[in-house]
Amino acid sequence: MRRYWSIAVFSFILSFLSLSSPAAGEPAEAPATLLSAIRYWPDQNSTRIVFELSNPTTYFDKYLSGPDRVYIDLHHTFIAGNITPIEIGNGIVKQVRTGQHDKQTVRVVLELTGAADYKISPLTSPDRLVLDVYRETMGGQILNLSPSMQTIVIDPGHGGKDPGATGKRGLMEKDIVLDVGLRLKRLVKDRLGANVIMTREKDVFIPLGERTAIANSKGADLFVSIHANSSRRVGARGVETYLLGKATDKDAMDTALRENSATEKSFDDLQFILTDLLTTAKKDESLRLAYYVQGNIVDRLESRYKAVNLGIKQAPFFVLVNAKMPSILAEISFISNPDEEKFLARGEYRQEIAEAIFEGLKRYIQSTPMLAQPGEAQAR
Ligand SMILES: [Zn+2]
Repeated sequence: MRRYWSIAVFSFILSFLSLSSPAAGEPAEAPATLLSAIRYWPDQNSTRIVFELSNPTTYFDKYLSGPDRVYIDLHHTFIAGNITPIEIGNGIVKQVRTGQHDKQTVRVVLELTGAADYKISPLTSPDRLVLDVYRETMGGQILNLSPSMQTIVIDPGHGGKDPGATGKRGLMEKDIVLDVGLRLKRLVKDRLGANVIMTREKDVFIPLGERTAIANSKGADLFVSIHANSSRRVGARGVETYLLGKATDKDAMDTALRENSATEKSFDDLQFILTDLLTTAKKDESLRLAYYVQGNIVDRLESRYKAVNLGIKQAPFFVLVNAKMPSILAEISFISNPDEEKFLARGEYRQEIAEAIFEGLKRYIQSTPMLAQPGEAQAR
């Protein structure tokens, strides 16, 4: 998240005044600035809040999380009477509270609905402080999806009678990937405003061929299948992202065979379908998408969880066959590895993975000029 830190530098004289506290019995020295009014303009992707001042003043601002909020201390400032809390509630800012924190400081607290970027600009004639709060997006700009980037399909692997891989402690792939998928859905909806289609939202069996059929029939723009890996080698661990193609190596082939086990199609069928389809598949775009998703998962899990980067690979995954949009399959960790199974059991770890996939999707879209257009929210 990029935050904007800025300190106004107007009141060089006022800073001297604050050093001399009044002697007992003397009237307190009046702060120099009056905060006379707060005005605000909420809209869909940003909120502008304006603090009207009698003079320029210095301030200090800080972003805090858990819950997300911003506080701003206006130095040498007082408010006349009480300013009642302002309820904004546009999905970015919940409430703005203002109070005389001490004799010389007015504190403003913005309670946010979630992570946000903000920017403070001191303006003159008349003197005021302008605070713009944005949904957390790319570098403080709103990411507007173009009409051609509106639908993202999230495909949690397996489900129902097909549990996928199972860990030594009994953790099932189908449950883990559903949870990660639902977390990802929330992020994509909240932060990109894109339409999300889940191939499943509960523990049901969906044939592999139906999953891309759903994506195609809705004219989806991206397809992301989420899986947990498994290997006979207990020590195998790490993250890899696949696109459709002929198997890169033996491990990739084993992974595809296991992930394809829910289809009655034979391997020969698949190879045949593949040679037929590979020329039309959006391979370059799938590779770029894989690059962003893989990179972000590894970056996020590397130091804290010692994630191993197994790279981007190809293999004949039946679930990716027929996809008419860029499509990838992420193997988020090895459920067969005792350490990684332990991590996968934690909600915190699954959230990290969902955030990382989200970040990868966002950067993919951001790097596709035809798909992402910077918003106009800042240009007021
Ligand atoms: Zn799987």
